[in-house]
Amino acid sequence: MGRFDEERRDMVGILKEKGITDEKVLLAMTNVERHLFVNEPFVNRSYEDTALPIEKSQTISQPYTVAFMTQELNPKPGAKILEIGTGSGYQAAILAEMGCRVFTIERHLELLLEARKLFERLGYRIATRGGDGTVGWSEFAPYDGIIVTAAAPDVPDALIRQLAEGGRLVIPVGDLDSQSLLVVTNQDGRLETKEVRGFKFVPLIGKQGWNGK
Ligand code: SAM
Repeated sequence: MGRFDEERRDMVGILKEKGITDEKVLLAMTNVERHLFVNEPFVNRSYEDTALPIEKSQTISQPYTVAFMTQELNPKPGAKILEIGTGSGYQAAILAEMGCRVFTIERHLELLLEARKLFERLGYRIATRGGDGTVGWSEFAPYDGIIVTAAAPDVPDALIRQLAEGGRLVIPVGDLDSQSLLVVTNQDGRLETKEVRGFKFVPLIGKQGWNGK
């Protein structure tokens, strides 16, 4: 038995209590070892349902947020998914564990390099890119799903353009203090936007994001 197996099972129990029902999401969160994506001095807190600091003043998202957004994304195995905001790599690993083909972009190269090393070590084949994710990754578009893990002022046009027919974009949009999680679907060339709930994220910085360092 691994050092944190019991804590991880308890975390998944909390996610169920909070309303996560998708068995594929719950299984991936049972299998992926979140403590590998967390640095000291926070490793012992890896299975608390809370966001934790990572390098570059960023965060690894709260497990409930990861579970909720993944459930809303609702990816099928083999789906091509673009993630904006690799951060620790945890969300990308959850998607890879669910059998998705994952493409992920991070603006802080230092974070990207750490995540890339971890993906290799864990055997996940995830395509990574350093840079501004607000413009998407057109080379591999269209995507069956796009998930943005930082708060945007608006939905970036480029991401809409890179969404496949029938695809879903999950993105927190709002001001810097609080955001609504939006799910944008592209059905028969028609966009539909649904607001699912409030969240608090670190800012999405870039051409079609906030200004910042
Ligand atoms: N998915 C991450 C995880 O599982 O750890 C969450 C990371 S954090 C909440 C959001 C990340 O988005 C940060 O690492 C931040 O540097 C990154 N970010 C912000 N704006 C970005 C942009 N325009 N392009 C790519 N990454 C961006």
